[in-house]
Amino acid sequence: MPAPARCPTCDQRIFNRRLALCEFCGALLPLSELLSPEELEADEDRVDAEARRARFERRLDRDERAEVRRRRRRGFGWGFPLGPFG
Ligand SMILES: [Zn+2]
Repeated sequence: MPAPARCPTCDQRIFNRRLALCEFCGALLPLSELLSPEELEADEDRVDAEARRARFERRLDRDERAEVRRRRRRGFGWGFPLGPFG
């Protein structure tokens, strides 16, 4: 495990290595402390996947609520299985 990246100016931990500036003091960070283009790309893939998943879960959530409302209107009530995601 490499030592956590630190800002050479204020010695604070660098939490977001995607940013070129220190979040604490605004100093320009050395490139060696930042994500390489390859790492950045991999990181973006991960963020993309997470965003897609979050969107999917939000949609699912909305669909489930709509489904519950539909079922309540039909009189099935709560506790009725909502399918593979319920
Ligand atoms: Zn700093």
